[in-house]
Amino acid sequence: MKNILDPDAVRNFQHLLEKHEKIVLTCHMRPDGDAVGSVLGLWHVLKAIGKDVSVVVPDRVPRSLQFLPGVRQIAVNTQYDPYCARLVNEAGLIIMCDFNTASRQGELAALIQGAQADKVLIDHHRLPEIKCNVMFSFPDMSSTCELVFRLIAACGLYNKVDKAAATCILTGMITDTQNFTVNCNNTEIYEILMRLLEKEVDKKKIVDEALKSTSYNALRLNSFALLERLQIFEKSRCALIVLSKKDLDNFNYQKGDTEGLVNMPLEIRGIVYSIFMREDDDCIKVSTRSKYDFPVCDICSDLFDGGGHLMAAGGEFHGTLQECKDIFIEHIADYDKFLPKKLENLEIN
Ligand code: 5GP
Ligand code: MN
Repeated sequence: MKNILDPDAVRNFQHLLEKHEKIVLTCHMRPDGDAVGSVLGLWHVLKAIGKDVSVVVPDRVPRSLQFLPGVRQIAVNTQYDPYCARLVNEAGLIIMCDFNTASRQGELAALIQGAQADKVLIDHHRLPEIKCNVMFSFPDMSSTCELVFRLIAACGLYNKVDKAAATCILTGMITDTQNFTVNCNNTEIYEILMRLLEKEVDKKKIVDEALKSTSYNALRLNSFALLERLQIFEKSRCALIVLSKKDLDNFNYQKGDTEGLVNMPLEIRGIVYSIFMREDDDCIKVSTRSKYDFPVCDICSDLFDGGGHLMAAGGEFHGTLQECKDIFIEHIADYDKFLPKKLENLEIN
């Protein structure tokens, strides 16, 4: 495996680890497998080298990730904010994982950004805008967990990765690559997979828990969304799913129930990108995915105050669901120029 990390940055990171005993690890709100996997993976390794380390996350970890070893030790800011504030304020070092702008931490952002601690960012989103002492930012990487593994290896700590740490790290790689089906052409990720499997990780269990553990209601909601709420824009090769609060209530929606829904329309031959709008309590959550390097991140940053990766991005809209949909439809043709030419004659059916 090539060492692609900047040796100076690795050295600076090692110095920070030597300098500080109290360390806080944190990630973005609505945490996914890569966010929780990266902080918990690091947590296990830093504990193994004797650090006083805590994990503080903005809001609850979804049910599909509750199997991760160490998950019960996580401090959730929406549930125990005085405790989280104490941990953050006492920390000498804060390691931020899997986000590129402070706003991705919601209400936790002010506490983390205002803390006096030294800070490290470990992330794979484009255009990071976070102040820190040391930054590891690799937008081409499959996942933040891949980066965490590389960093642990570069620090000579591979032998401190036990089964629990390996399980967390592999979970992020599996969820961000949809079990090695997207973002997975770099041969080195299979070398990392091999190293993690050598730690006796149960890969099947991770896939079952993190990717295949839907509830009956969630399956029905997703089926309803595909049957009744999916609209195809043929010329733009776009699939749009819109779910209102009422739709969600009808299926007793729980957080995480629509995870993965946005990917499904990409299975239609000829569809290039998929957009999902969900009416949450505080905003319209927009989630997008694409194929053929179509830049859905541009749609999210232009229209929905968001961003992310080239082919997996998201944002938020503050207004009604109808307004959100209208804005997108008004601008949809602007993005036709990014459609791959080779599909021009392929019918969607
Ligand atoms: P998801 O569709 O799974 O919620 O998010 C996919 C990716 O889009 C995330 O990894 C993240 O990079 C990005 N993303 C999602 N929501 C937002 C958002 O509200 N703001 C920004 N800047 N990025 C987001
Ligand atoms: Mn990620």
